[in-house]
Amino acid sequence: MPAILPDHESGYHPWMTIPIPHAINRRDDGLLIEWDDAGHQGWYTARELRLACPCAACVEEMTGRPLLQPAAVPADVRPVSLALVGAYGLKVQWSDGHSTGIYTFEQLRARCTCRLCAGAGVTPDTSPISRPSQSQ
Ligand SMILES: [Zn+2]
Ligand SMILES: [Zn+2]
Repeated sequence: MPAILPDHESGYHPWMTIPIPHAINRRDDGLLIEWDDAGHQGWYTARELRLACPCAACVEEMTGRPLLQPAAVPADVRPVSLALVGAYGLKVQWSDGHSTGIYTFEQLRARCTCRLCAGAGVTPDTSPISRPSQSQ
């Protein structure tokens, strides 16, 4: 049974203080971002991150509709280089030539798939105690 996070109340909210990564490690198949020095780190697979590019060429500004065709992104796309944007985000030069997207730390933090964050994003309704029957 998964443990309930002690700080469930302080789950991620966009208006909270902007998270600043402790360290960002570039690898050919993705980025490893350390959010603090206490072992909180998230893995961002290169292609998934590329597909999540928030720039105006990849996402329609007015509607948020994705414009980027996943088929147009090479399966082996990789981050060639990284550049910090102010104190709030990260610009990635991709091997497919794309580099206009700015990934804010907020977005990256919200996409963190580590056990800690994944747990915080899921309603803890898997307890066998208080669920006598299915109510769907
Ligand atoms: Zn883009
Ligand atoms: Zn996380």
